[in-house]
Amino acid sequence: MTIDGYTRTCGLIGNPVEHTLSPLIHNTLAKKFSHNLVYVPFHVDEEKIQAAVEGAYALNLLGLNVTVPYKSQVMEGLVQIDELAEKIGAVNTLVRMEGGFKGYNTDMPGLYRAMSSEGIQIEGQEIILLGAGGAARAVAFLCAAKNASKVYLLNRSIEKAQAVAGEVNAKTGKNVIYPMALSDYHQLPDQKFLAIQATSVGLYPDTERAVIEDEAFYHKIHTGYDLIYKPFHTRFMQHVKEQGGKAYHGLKMLLYQGIIAYELWNDIAVPEEMAAAVYEVLKEKIGI
Ligand code: NAP
Repeated sequence: MTIDGYTRTCGLIGNPVEHTLSPLIHNTLAKKFSHNLVYVPFHVDEEKIQAAVEGAYALNLLGLNVTVPYKSQVMEGLVQIDELAEKIGAVNTLVRMEGGFKGYNTDMPGLYRAMSSEGIQIEGQEIILLGAGGAARAVAFLCAAKNASKVYLLNRSIEKAQAVAGEVNAKTGKNVIYPMALSDYHQLPDQKFLAIQATSVGLYPDTERAVIEDEAFYHKIHTGYDLIYKPFHTRFMQHVKEQGGKAYHGLKMLLYQGIIAYELWNDIAVPEEMAAAVYEVLKEKIGI
């Protein structure tokens, strides 16, 4: 592309940002749409996050993505926050408005679109959710909002599982999240579940581990969805497949959170063929 006086800038703020795949998603979309737009990663030190958001607005940036560790902290400096992001308590996308940025959460709609594109349903399902960190908390909101019939939320520290379950149940007005200690997984009912893996166990470089290593647990899973995408074939996925289930990694979630952000910045809808083409570019880049 030619950068000229009309080029709009979007970017990613976080720490670290050096290994991000987001520029590939957004710059590919800009090229395919012939938008005069460029997307750049910005490494921001902790004490500079509010200054970075103000500076980005002053520099007329069209929008930003926000990644670890700033998804909650960034909310302070925004002029408006979308209702879903407010409930989840995390913002990963800033959209330029009159007077400042509005915050959105596209991670959860991204996961929903990624799951739907694979034909995975949440509505009416009994779900095992592993983890109670930032990502799991958002997944718990998604499951409640999309009318899962029951979600067993298993976490190493039971206090965190209880806190997340209490908050999500209260904020959604649905009593569907049941907290459990991770070590109590053998108490799960004897049936088949959709399981969403939202812990950081198995993430590169610690790729030889899964959060639960017991074969009997994986008998209970018909579909396993790992939020991790580095590596693309996790040990959790391997366990699910070995017991006859279907397994998916988190790359499509990454793709769709980016696509939804791009839609918000440009006020467009990205057609599914375009999303599929960007996914191919992503897969080629990482060699899968
Ligand atoms: P986080 O807030 O740090 O939470 C980490 C979670 O993992 C907690 O529930 C923690 O349990 C659990 N955990 C860590 N080490 C453990 C161990 N040894 N045994 C058992 N449980 C352990 O992280 P996060 O932001 O929620 O991210 C979680 C994962 O989701 C990461 O791998 C990240 O890459 C992935 N993710 C993917 C996408 C995507 O676009 N695909 C987006 C967001 C996140 P305790 O509470 O007991 O410590």
